[in-house]
Amino acid sequence: MAGGLAPYAADDSCSRGRRHPEQLHGYRSQFQRDRDRILHSAAFRRLVYKTQVFVNHEGDLYRTRLTHSLEVAQIGRTVAGNLGLNETLTEAICLAHDLGHTPFGHAGQDALNRRMRPYGGFEHNLQSLRVVDQLEDRYLAFSGLNLTYETREGILKHCSRTAARQLGDLGQRFLRRQQPGLEAQLANIADEVAYNNHDVDDGLRAGLLTVAELADIALFGRHYRAVKKQAGCRRRHMGDRVLIHETVRRMINQVVSDLIETSRANLRAAAPASIEEVRARRLPLVALSSETRSEHLELKRFLRRRLYRHERVMTVNRRAQEILAALFDLYMADPAAMPAEHRDRARAAARKSGAGGRARAVADYLAGMTDRYAVSAYRRLVDPALDW
Ligand code: MG
Repeated sequence: MAGGLAPYAADDSCSRGRRHPEQLHGYRSQFQRDRDRILHSAAFRRLVYKTQVFVNHEGDLYRTRLTHSLEVAQIGRTVAGNLGLNETLTEAICLAHDLGHTPFGHAGQDALNRRMRPYGGFEHNLQSLRVVDQLEDRYLAFSGLNLTYETREGILKHCSRTAARQLGDLGQRFLRRQQPGLEAQLANIADEVAYNNHDVDDGLRAGLLTVAELADIALFGRHYRAVKKQAGCRRRHMGDRVLIHETVRRMINQVVSDLIETSRANLRAAAPASIEEVRARRLPLVALSSETRSEHLELKRFLRRRLYRHERVMTVNRRAQEILAALFDLYMADPAAMPAEHRDRARAAARKSGAGGRARAVADYLAGMTDRYAVSAYRRLVDPALDW
């Protein structure tokens, strides 16, 4: 394990490289450069004003896409370090995984996807790749951030077969039903672990979930009862928030510990000698045990039912979708309503590929918006009286 890296980890000396070849940096590794490029990108900074579940103005303490991405990266790095995987690559993938997210969370993506259906659809995961491959504009020599294959592989978590056929190398694994490297497998699960747990915290804070209903969910209930018992008579002097924090921390700890142990056992049994052997496999090696996985899924289903489809969340979502749909129609009809840079992109794309090109440029502009930017554009162009 040279430098703490296992033989199956991504090692930047064996990277499949960048689309535009570059000189190595004097003192930063390839994956460090990727991480730094992501961190300095405009798309990354915008995550601070993008919705995770609760729209930004509902309260200062809710997760945003930015704090979500940081929590994903923190979980990812912990597990990577314990499995001998590349921590820096894991961090880079985790920080970049949501760069393509629209304003207003999944509601925004659904609205944009509906409008984009005649033009190939819109999918935030593919959009994250588009952001780092094409849309960030910071280098003289190329468009995008020119990240390594390994980081791009991790960003592209899933992808339809149709899209995969257009992605060259990167799409191959979806056609062959193979796996990405372990750091990519890990970032994918770290994302789920992070949101499953922080959405419990945010949902309780918002008063949309109750401790009583969560107590029936195995993962929460077990730890909550243990915390209550341990607090004993001190509980009277403690706020409920402390009990919730203590519970959520233990939930994360259980799932992350299980992820490390199960993945370590899988790696020991499969003993892949290199990242290429990992990629050639049919099933992921970074995984939860079946018991923890089913508890994790039970919680995920509960959140979908009780939180993501909660009437209060849905009401906000519907309004958010109306805002994005109206802006899409407006910019399609009149690209000059967009700032000059986007207007020019839309015109050039329309010359090259007609309405589809224009629609893609409009979608890029809309997807890049923060929640509040979309709201202010709507107020300016559609309805100054919008109460948001
Ligand atoms: Mg995410």
